[in-house]
Amino acid sequence: MKRSMASPKKKIAVLGGGFCGCCALAQLKEEGGFELVCFEKMDKPGGTWCYREESMEAVASIMPTTVINHSKELGALSDFPPPKEYNNYMRHHELYQHFTDYVKSKDILKYIQYNSEVMEVRRVKITKKQAGG
Ligand SMILES: Cc1cc2nc3c(=O)[nH]c(=O)nc-3n(C[C@H](O)[C@H](O)[C@H](O)COP(=O)(O)OP(=O)(O)OC[C@H]3O[C@@H](n4cnc5c(N)ncnc54)[C@H](O)[C@@H]3O)c2cc1C
Repeated sequence: MKRSMASPKKKIAVLGGGFCGCCALAQLKEEGGFELVCFEKMDKPGGTWCYREESMEAVASIMPTTVINHSKELGALSDFPPPKEYNNYMRHHELYQHFTDYVKSKDILKYIQYNSEVMEVRRVKITKKQAGG
């Protein structure tokens, strides 16, 4: 459902630009009517699947030999299937390339604010109007 142009845009912050955060951004963008921002503590998107040669404290990363443990058919993004030429059980670099192609096709990288670690999340009281209701 598209929101009316007249209603105020609801601000949504997505925490983390990994696979889940980016899929959330793509869905929210498609739904429309939101002011989006994604806070990502690292300098690149992709989270766990962004391979880093150097291990860093409190940053999960796959290894040079990592192969995803489910097939392309089982784990595919429903609106963005992986290319036929990729291995059925994708190597991490294939998955990362596929992820990169996905986020570019959805034009969502513009919402990601890199090197921005969220330190605290607090509840605030908002009015019905501010909540877009
Ligand atoms: C070695 C390894 C192998 C794996 N293999 C598989 C597999 O084969 N199949 C499978 O389905 N899953 C696998 N996983 C699970 C993996 O966690 C998921 O596939 C997927 O990456 C989870 O995505 P996510 O976006 O939830 O989390 P992540 O990929 O962890 O992304 C979270 C993002 O949030 C950012 N972030 C974290 N804290 C903050 C903060 N305070 N402020 C701002 N940004 C923040 C991080 O930098 C990161 O970019 C594996 C995980 C690991 C570690």
